[in-house]
Amino acid sequence: MKSKFFKHLAMVTKHRFKVFVLCTKCGLFWRGLVHDLSKYSPTEFFESVKYYTGKYSPIAECRNQTGYSKAWLHHKGRNKHHVEYWYDRENKEQMNIPYKYAVECVCDKIAATKCYKGKDYKPEMVLKHWQKYGHLAPTNDNMKNFFTTVFSDLAQHGEKYVLNKRYLKAKYNLIVLNSEK
Ligand SMILES: [Zn+2]
Repeated sequence: MKSKFFKHLAMVTKHRFKVFVLCTKCGLFWRGLVHDLSKYSPTEFFESVKYYTGKYSPIAECRNQTGYSKAWLHHKGRNKHHVEYWYDRENKEQMNIPYKYAVECVCDKIAATKCYKGKDYKPEMVLKHWQKYGHLAPTNDNMKNFFTTVFSDLAQHGEKYVLNKRYLKAKYNLIVLNSEK
């Protein structure tokens, strides 16, 4: 338990640092700084220590073993970078996620893949993960379209091409905002 405590702490710190670096590239210094702070709350922290794997999310591991994750229920309600935060039942229309949180979500997914894959990380892995699970995301088609476009361009052209304000603003305006009119 003790070693898992420190391993999880190190993983959260590493993940938060990576998100910070990526968010800063997109001009979102503050979002990068406050990313995932609720992971230090007892509800989230101790469950994730218990189900620490180091290879994938402890929330997924907890869900596999017990059927649900209290840490996740706590996390998604407090962190606007998760599509689930913006989800309101099976409504016909799901809300668009505001630009800064959508970009934080992009950085989060890249950082998580980097953390879990380590030296084996390749940009196309983010797209693969999204293609496998993204259709399950409770958000509208424009948001899904935005994430698919960004992750495809990441796989094809690399991080520098995608993680900057000019590219992200243009794609967001084109895909998400255009649909609001
Ligand atoms: Zn999060």
